[in-house]
Amino acid sequence: MLSLTDITLTFPDGDGRVTAVDRANLEVARGTVAGLTGPSGSGKSSLLAVAATLVQPDSGRVEIAGVDATSVSQKEAAQLRRERIGIVFQQSNLLPSLTAREQLLVMGELDGSAKDKAARTRAADELLGIVGLGDHRESRPAALSGGQRQRVNIARALMGDPAVLIVDEPTSALDRARSEEIIGLVVDLTRDLGTATLLVTHDLALMPRFDTTHQMLDGALTPLTESETPAGVPGVPVSG
Ligand code: ADP
Ligand code: MG
Repeated sequence: MLSLTDITLTFPDGDGRVTAVDRANLEVARGTVAGLTGPSGSGKSSLLAVAATLVQPDSGRVEIAGVDATSVSQKEAAQLRRERIGIVFQQSNLLPSLTAREQLLVMGELDGSAKDKAARTRAADELLGIVGLGDHRESRPAALSGGQRQRVNIARALMGDPAVLIVDEPTSALDRARSEEIIGLVVDLTRDLGTATLLVTHDLALMPRFDTTHQMLDGALTPLTESETPAGVPGVPVSG
């Protein structure tokens, strides 16, 4: 589970500081997706950076699978991130020269897993199959569509069985049908693998797909009420 308690994050801004995240609280249970929306500049990516332990908050507590990430050394935080957190950022680019399988194997080497090469290759191939790229394990990014590249990004984030999955605007470059597919994939993987998933999207139409829904306004995090969520995708109840 992912637990954020009273998180505040500020950045230098001229003579003063800008508050990117203002006393935010959020709990994401295993096997559930928390969907986060809000205007550009409201602090969504900043909150994700804190949740991913990439940035230390000014104050507040980040708990990843029972470990307080805010009271450990930078080195321990980096290890926690490698071992327990999967990250899909908008700008998480694939390396042009590597095949889909190799993109995942590079991650497997970085995460310090004790698995040998053959075991990592099996894990990579299994994940690529799960995200629907079983026929594209040898494909390089240029040979893949935008949606397929995003599937590689998601599979790569899942190498090493993370407890927490952090996803920032995974569908911003995709059309509606592709967006729905990618979101459905993230929801299914979250259920099947038991991750606590925090996903940012500016697309309100996707919100009914998530277990809990939240919005950010000027750094403040609040629940998204049903009246603010469009009557959703047929057959999928609005929850949260
Ligand atoms: P969102 O993802 O919702 O668009 P961000 O988290 O990127 O919002 O930004 C929130 C606020 O924090 C904005 O005012 C932005 O300018 C500021 N900000 C974000 N990252 C930095 C940074 N590295 N340095 C200074 N200001 C930043
Ligand atoms: Mg952002």
